[in-house]
Amino acid sequence: MQQGDKDITLITPTAPITAKTHGGRAKCLQRLVRLDLPVPRTIALSFDAVHSIAAGELPDMNAILEPFGDAPLLCVRPSSEDPDWGGPGAILNIGMNDARYVELSDQIGKVAAAEIYLRFVQSYAIHVARLDPDILDDVVEEPTEGLGQALRAYEEETEEEFPQDPAVQMSEVLRSMARAWEGTTARLLRQAKGAPADAGLGLVVQQLALGLGYGECGSGVMQLVNSQTGERKITGRYLSQSQGREALSSGSDALFLERDPRGPSLEELAPEAFEQLKSHTALMREKLREEMQSEFTIENGKVYLLDGLRVARNARAAVSIAVNLAEDGIISREEALMRVEPRALNELLHQQVDPEAKRDILARGIAASPGAAAGQIVFSAAEAQASESRGEACILVRRETSPEDIRGMHAAVAVLTERGGMTSHAAVIGRGIGLPCVVGASEIRFQARKKQLTFPDGRVLKQGDMITIDGSNGHVLAGETPLLESSRDKSLQILMEWADDVRDIAVRANADTPADAKVARNFKAQGIGLCRTEHMFFEADRLTVMREMIFADTSKDRAAALELLLPMQRDDFTDLFRIMQGQPVCIRLLDPPLHEFLPTDRAGHLQLAEALDLPLSVVTRRVEALGEYNPMLGMRGVRLGITVPEIYDMQARAIFEATIEASHESKPVVPEIMIPLVSARREVEMVKARVDAVAAAVRNETGEDFTYRLGVMVETPRAALRAAEIAPLVAFLSFGTNDLTQMTYGLSRDDAGRFMSEYVRQGVFPEDPFHTLDIDGVGELLQIGAERGRSANHDVFLSICGEHGGNPESIAFCREAGFDYVSCSPFRVPVARLAAAQLAV
Ligand code: PEP
Ligand code: MG
Repeated sequence: MQQGDKDITLITPTAPITAKTHGGRAKCLQRLVRLDLPVPRTIALSFDAVHSIAAGELPDMNAILEPFGDAPLLCVRPSSEDPDWGGPGAILNIGMNDARYVELSDQIGKVAAAEIYLRFVQSYAIHVARLDPDILDDVVEEPTEGLGQALRAYEEETEEEFPQDPAVQMSEVLRSMARAWEGTTARLLRQAKGAPADAGLGLVVQQLALGLGYGECGSGVMQLVNSQTGERKITGRYLSQSQGREALSSGSDALFLERDPRGPSLEELAPEAFEQLKSHTALMREKLREEMQSEFTIENGKVYLLDGLRVARNARAAVSIAVNLAEDGIISREEALMRVEPRALNELLHQQVDPEAKRDILARGIAASPGAAAGQIVFSAAEAQASESRGEACILVRRETSPEDIRGMHAAVAVLTERGGMTSHAAVIGRGIGLPCVVGASEIRFQARKKQLTFPDGRVLKQGDMITIDGSNGHVLAGETPLLESSRDKSLQILMEWADDVRDIAVRANADTPADAKVARNFKAQGIGLCRTEHMFFEADRLTVMREMIFADTSKDRAAALELLLPMQRDDFTDLFRIMQGQPVCIRLLDPPLHEFLPTDRAGHLQLAEALDLPLSVVTRRVEALGEYNPMLGMRGVRLGITVPEIYDMQARAIFEATIEASHESKPVVPEIMIPLVSARREVEMVKARVDAVAAAVRNETGEDFTYRLGVMVETPRAALRAAEIAPLVAFLSFGTNDLTQMTYGLSRDDAGRFMSEYVRQGVFPEDPFHTLDIDGVGELLQIGAERGRSANHDVFLSICGEHGGNPESIAFCREAGFDYVSCSPFRVPVARLAAAQLAV
């Protein structure tokens, strides 16, 4: 084959090498060479060269071997464009043969020479000749004897002598590595990591620093930070008389690098080599502008740097490394922001299953709220509360949750449901309060009466049995799996401040309770974008009053119940305003159908009958009458506001009275009142007239003035289409993409979980649209709504408050469409802040 100049290139400071033609490792080695670091002589084979080798066209071996002079030992390592895409394992000690063995025995001793030869025979047999590793099972550890055995085993198996010609050895190694890259398994594995189907492989051939022999010889790896925390600390291991990365797998034989109370160190054994390595690694960090790991060999006291790798890191370390690099002036703050994947912050904000832990997976569902927790199974909210009061961690397991379960959810450490999708009740609440949650686990048989769960493999778990919920990837795990704590350290705070300096779209939180609001403030949300008021009515004392209101036959009875609810609501809002200290708070008037506030079982009906002093049959009949076949499209949202206007009147009054109260104490409050589920202009006119009237009444009664902003939630397709006639009436339009997705697709948000994974698996939908905003369809409605709304009312504020508001892709879309803010669950606020910042960099 005709190799061009660029196909086989000696790595020099000026050689034409790029990551796109020769791979990341070759490029990195060139950088180390430019820094004048002690890198052994290396040549790089381009993607094209390796591709030709895989196709059977071998290059002239002289071009590869000649640059290394006389009879060297070499190693070959993979160099893919992105190191994360992997590649075949390195092959060391190429060039070892009988003659070299004799020479080396004189130089470094027979045992070390035999060891090197033996290692080569073993790796060549297994990785190049692809012999069954079992044939080497009987080879003894003592190298000189083992070598003879290994050579014999090779010859018996292949009926050929072990190849002695370095050119043959090299060509076989290259061919084997090139072909391994083209194999189907390797291709699928790297594609799973984001590599394109035609990703190339380069190879680097490097002169070997021996690591075995007289004097201090060995190998190891060094990095200047801890990979788990990012803390500045020299970590790594060194092993005398070793090669490659053996030090990392040799357990207690390996030395620490820095002086360490736990055992001997390289610093004590070879202080000069240690100091050199430290400064080489620090130089790499500075000049390569990245935290690097050096792979080194010491040969008779002399240090060689074989490779520099980007330090592996978890999310916590990634944040701390990025911040430290920027604080040291090595990278800019903007670059630090770009180096952290926003979603990875979830790992810092929630407990996680220890990646080292064994996972005994019982079942899979939808990963609806990130984080992990272990606890005993309970089947009802009441049992969850009982568990909590006993100090026992519990997992609330329900077919699906309803507002009635909220207190149980607060008492549990995680939630598992059989039904539901990304925007079902359990998922929304779980994300809101930072509770790990797996929903739509339909492969589990839920037997609530028997208080047991049957898993697909036949295992049966009962109430009180321990499970772990991993809401980050949708796993239900048997037993108590080891967890890693969340870690919100100083670096995260600093990175977030930098994010806030650059981003140009505001981030608010969806927060329903004072506890949520506190989390939102801690995460520096710029206000509340959605307070779902229904969640305020589920405290035991309020629920009864709420039910009285629902059961009221006359407007007088209803007014009496609302009279009782008013001060409670006023206190709720006052609390929220106080916590948010003058920041905007957008309160949505009551949205869910009234039957959600009613008990669902006979015992509940009986209790209600007693509380209301009504016959059981009456209660049961009324509950049935209030039930709806398709409650999501029924009597809810503004339809309630029109048909039972006293509820919204009460809420508006509570908001205004709270506004006055909170404004006495701190900064003036300008509440935002949001009308849900609007589909027609007339609905807005009617509610607006009543809210304005309540405001006037409160002003009159109190003699105090205040302002407020009224807005509409755009969550029906019609509201988006008719935004031009709605916008002039209001101060803001907030897109509720949960309902908007449901209605655009005609897809029930509570039931879609049953088939969504199948739909995605078969490629019907590219992704779950309740999770990732459907830019094509729902997105078009957002665009239309935004444009028509703005054209009719230039000042109208635009925002998104559906669950998509925390997704980096949706934030990009909303920013592009000129939205003023996004609002998402409090625990997603940091993710949203970082994602928004990256868009502005
Ligand atoms: C929505 O529909 O997008 C929304 C935010 O409201 P909810 O999820 O409460 O219906
Ligand atoms: Mg909605």
